[in-house]
Amino acid sequence: MANWVAHSLIDGIRSEPGPATARLPAGVSPGRPTSQRLSEQAATRMAALCPTAAIAARRDAVEVDFARCVHCQRCRQPSGALAWQDDAQWGMWHDAESHPLPRCFRHSVNVRYLDAGACGACMGEVRLLDAPPYNLHRYGIFITATPRDADVLLVAGPVTEAMRLPLRKAYEAMPEPKRVVAMGVCAINGGVFGQSFASLGGVKEVLPVDLIIPGCPPPPLAIVHGLLRVAGQLQPEVGSAARKP
Ligand code: SF4
Ligand code: SF4
Repeated sequence: MANWVAHSLIDGIRSEPGPATARLPAGVSPGRPTSQRLSEQAATRMAALCPTAAIAARRDAVEVDFARCVHCQRCRQPSGALAWQDDAQWGMWHDAESHPLPRCFRHSVNVRYLDAGACGACMGEVRLLDAPPYNLHRYGIFITATPRDADVLLVAGPVTEAMRLPLRKAYEAMPEPKRVVAMGVCAINGGVFGQSFASLGGVKEVLPVDLIIPGCPPPPLAIVHGLLRVAGQLQPEVGSAARKP
């Protein structure tokens, strides 16, 4: 840590700005494809290019379901036809019943993360949250080692059959009120693993999911965005069906 402070003072390196910043420095977020107007021919070509059916062709546009996108980059300009949005505001409520933690939790939230069969990349991004460039503590959000102290369960991976029971037990050990965040397309819908004898196809098959953070994997700042949203620290709740606590 002392080295980091000295390095920062000498080189002027600081923590990244928050995820609500519209324009991020290069390399902080890989960006994301978004719905946009496109000729019918180009839209059909883009839809055929996408390996996960995240792109749907309309008559004069494409609709992108980002919760299915695995970031293969095939649709990205210049080789593809879609312009990407370089932000990190990826956290979305799962459905109309989802809502942020009560107000008293907004500046002290404990997060327990759980690997439910992830490939390793999602958990690698989570491990960076405490590093100085992202500095999760500055928001009053902390990683905890036990579900008994946790307000938020952050889950990555498609949920293997072997992880069904541990996931359920971790959730039941958490005190109320508690929230579940599915991080990465695998945790949202099974992703590239889909549903099989070994993969359940997402956290929603086992637990009530409150918030999703798409991406494969989502970068640290996108994870911070999702955690801020579930903690109720992002105002206004643009595009969400959040109930007031
Ligand atoms: S990046 Fe790949 S998976 Fe994502 S929308 Fe584009 S083509 Fe589909
Ligand atoms: S979402 Fe992507 S990075 Fe995360 S566990 Fe699945 S395959 Fe790995």
